[in-house]
Amino acid sequence: MENELSKSQAILQCKCPRCRKGEIFENSAFSLNFAKTHTNCPVCNLKYERILGFFWSAMYVSYAFTVAHMITLMVAINVLTDERPALWVFFAAIIGSFVFFVPVYFRYSRVIVLYFLGGIKYNPNPKVWEEQGE
Ligand SMILES: [Zn+2]
Repeated sequence: MENELSKSQAILQCKCPRCRKGEIFENSAFSLNFAKTHTNCPVCNLKYERILGFFWSAMYVSYAFTVAHMITLMVAINVLTDERPALWVFFAAIIGSFVFFVPVYFRYSRVIVLYFLGGIKYNPNPKVWEEQGE
């Protein structure tokens, strides 16, 4: 029997919500082309963009990630420093850390929207993939 991923493992690994085997993104998160998303799942042929402009809704999730990141960073800087640091310290910390986190937030916001708003049910059976089509 093949090793099947749980839903949380599939989300963390950015796998297709229907087969949990195909990659959602074409390149690594560390690549400059981190945003390139497969049109269809390479394994089960599920169309990822469910309706035209489907991934626009991922901006709201990405916004939530960004706000949570900024608040966490500001609280951490305030807690870790004795005196209140200059404003540029906050900006430098936020901008500097976003360089690393932008690909992560971009990809996971798309994955979360696909999993929770896409209306796609997990099904490991290739026969069902053919019946359901895209
Ligand atoms: Zn798939």
